[in-house]
Amino acid sequence: MADCLFCSIVAGDIPSDVVAETDTAFAFRDVNPQAPLHVLVVPRTHVANAGELADREPETVAALVRVARQVATDAGHDSYRLVLNTGEQAGQSVFHAHLHVLAGRPQAWPPG
Ligand code: 5GP
Ligand code: ZN
Repeated sequence: MADCLFCSIVAGDIPSDVVAETDTAFAFRDVNPQAPLHVLVVPRTHVANAGELADREPETVAALVRVARQVATDAGHDSYRLVLNTGEQAGQSVFHAHLHVLAGRPQAWPPG
């Protein structure tokens, strides 16, 4: 989609530090990491959030989770947190669905 940051990253028009790719998913390091490992896993298709992705391409939701697990375990982390912010109040700032993968430090609960 025009004017979508993550569509531009998936297309390679905006550079990113790519860590994994499949036919449906694309994973790259977050530019502002909140943990030693902080990767975003996004669908290649533009959808606004994870719920819409579940409606339109449910198999891609599973693909994102599998890629996230692979990225974490390849980096040596068997503990990791997956986050799907949906809506501004929940902290979503980019409206192309993305799964945060966070690992490498203890993580508090409840989240902020
Ligand atoms: P959200 O706040 O929507 O859940 O997550 C968006 C994430 O995208 C943020 O963690 C932010 O640091 C990251 N981000 C924003 N712009 C860029 C960018 O240009 N490149 C990369 N790699 N990450 C970005
Ligand atoms: Zn997009």
